[in-house]
Amino acid sequence: MSHFSYRPLLHGTPASAFHTPEPRRAEPGAWPGFEKALEAVNRDLTATLPEHPPLVLMLLPAQETGEPEQLYVALPDGRWQGNAVHPEDTTDNSGVPEPIDPARLLARVADAAQETVMEMSWQVWPVCPYHKLGLHVRTAEAVVWWCGGGDGGHKAAEVGRLAGSLPGKRRRELRREERARRKP
Ligand SMILES: [Zn+2]
Repeated sequence: MSHFSYRPLLHGTPASAFHTPEPRRAEPGAWPGFEKALEAVNRDLTATLPEHPPLVLMLLPAQETGEPEQLYVALPDGRWQGNAVHPEDTTDNSGVPEPIDPARLLARVADAAQETVMEMSWQVWPVCPYHKLGLHVRTAEAVVWWCGGGDGGHKAAEVGRLAGSLPGKRRRELRREERARRKP
């Protein structure tokens, strides 16, 4: 697996010194499928790591002529870790549109989000509330966070619905927080 991590300052050298196009926030509405998928994953993030800021989509312009732009799941400050969610293969330079299959989109975004959160904040995420083990994305009849604990493992929740898998106390706290946020 190749890892590329963008940092605005590399050993004190401004990124612009490399004369490469800089990553930018993806235009709202430009990637509706990825945006919807990221919304679901951000719900899980807020439910389980309330202090963590929501993730964003960053677009890395082509670094060389003929290469495609690449979409990443990043922290709000623009840093990310891991592979692009789109396109997966940079040898495809045909300006590929979004994949149509929502499950594929969701699985890719959840994987990328997990990598960015874990590598940038140095913690395992998400964690099974019962076995305290790190969850992994798995696609079966739905895209789910899967726990390897227990007898043969189990589904913790569908991606986007992790809040529902939390113990009752935390779930009630979340509802209270959400109500407080909605108040003007
Ligand atoms: Zn578990």
